[in-house]
Amino acid sequence: MEPEADVVVVGAGIVGCATAYFLARRGVRVVVVERGAVPGEQSRKNWGFVRQQGRDPAEMPLVMEANRLWRGLESELGADIEWVQGGNLALAADEQRLARFEAWLPVAREFGLDTRLLRPRDLQRVIPGLAGTWAGGMHTPGDGHADPEKATDAFVRAAVSHGASLHLDCAVQGVTTRAGAVAGVVTERGEIRASTVVCAAGAWSARLCRMLGFGLPQRWVRGTVARTTPAPAVTACAVWGPGVAFRQRRDGRFNIAAGGALDHDVTLDSLRQVRFFLPSYWKNKALFRFHVGRPLLASLAAALPGSAARRQPLVWDRGREPSPNPTKVQRSLAELQRVLPSLPALSIARSWAGYIDAMPDLVPVVGEVPALRGFLLATGFSGHGFAMGPIAGRLVSELIVDGKPSLDIAAFRFSRFAEGAIGKPRNVL
Ligand SMILES: Cc1cc2nc3c(=O)[nH]c(=O)nc-3n(C[C@H](O)[C@H](O)[C@H](O)COP(=O)(O)OP(=O)(O)OC[C@H]3O[C@@H](n4cnc5c(N)ncnc54)[C@H](O)[C@@H]3O)c2cc1C
Repeated sequence: MEPEADVVVVGAGIVGCATAYFLARRGVRVVVVERGAVPGEQSRKNWGFVRQQGRDPAEMPLVMEANRLWRGLESELGADIEWVQGGNLALAADEQRLARFEAWLPVAREFGLDTRLLRPRDLQRVIPGLAGTWAGGMHTPGDGHADPEKATDAFVRAAVSHGASLHLDCAVQGVTTRAGAVAGVVTERGEIRASTVVCAAGAWSARLCRMLGFGLPQRWVRGTVARTTPAPAVTACAVWGPGVAFRQRRDGRFNIAAGGALDHDVTLDSLRQVRFFLPSYWKNKALFRFHVGRPLLASLAAALPGSAARRQPLVWDRGREPSPNPTKVQRSLAELQRVLPSLPALSIARSWAGYIDAMPDLVPVVGEVPALRGFLLATGFSGHGFAMGPIAGRLVSELIVDGKPSLDIAAFRFSRFAEGAIGKPRNVL
């Protein structure tokens, strides 16, 4: 373990590794410390959609620049990441949902994004053989998708080949400070002195912040994904329908996820942070399914004095995998076969789940924490940070090296929570 670095990045997901890659390319001595045995959590488990459409307007400049980066990523990183610029189609089963999409079109126009509403007869051109009764859809041909594991690993390799170092199975257990500034990190394998620490710890970022005395309102939402057996090629477009979201991989298999309510495993943190999330829960009641079970019991046990969680808050639950929701897996497969009736009978090859780090306004936190010089957050991507990973990494590297990012990130400042400046979510997907 290096005793010293310019920057320590906590977490080797796509955000942390992209940050390390862009820093290393500029000659910064960067060390990435990852608590898991492989790089990334959500970054390996997500749907793989690289979507610009339907976003909060504040994210548009970032995600459009991200799209430009994605298009050149295979050559930039020298790796096959299964990038396909096949477009993104959001389906609307009723006029109400279509009206929501229509209300978002001025955002697309303002930023010059190639997005338009499709009427039912136009849907067939994008997805040949699409069945079902649809009010229409919103289509962005310039969107794409990629393989999450390959993309995350490609960033890791590229960062390392430019001189970054990576330590797996090595959690950061604390951040040391001196006179209001970062002095380094304490890891499971020793200390690293550094004047800059980037917290890219995904769904675990709030824990690290709490150790430093910062309240980061970040909730976990459990997302379930499944992969089917292979089928003949149908479409290169990523599709997000009310009953199923899917994309067909190069090997012919579909990655699928059910629409409908999001699974929220209630824990003590859900109760601690209720004031931030209540307005959004209340407004979107139908969208959340609350589960009171093992995660709540585990969090209650974790609060007991002397518990492993009290002694080692950043590692006590390492290796515990969230369970995929079996009902959703079966529902999404049935819905896929319903909307694409020409497919042969498919079965589920594997399914998995991941915790999404959701913020109350569903936009991330990127930038320095004002109360602690040298401590930067790049977290809370609220279910759409795979697409944003490359640009988030580049902007954080610019913030560190140039003192100023090339795009405006003021909307993502940490202080918005203390200022009470969190608005309603403005995304439509
Ligand atoms: C089911 C699902 C579907 C999704 N679909 C999409 C999609 O289609 N498109 C899209 O754009 N986004 C999607 N997302 C969201 C996207 O995956 C995330 O926003 C993105 O991967 C976040 O990257 P990250 O690097 O911040 O997090 P992660 O990949 O979770 O990485 C954080 C890393 O930090 C490590 N860590 C935590 N604590 C410590 C510590 N103390 N010390 C060291 N390491 C630590 C963790 O082990 C982890 O590897 C989806 C997410 C899920 C779960």
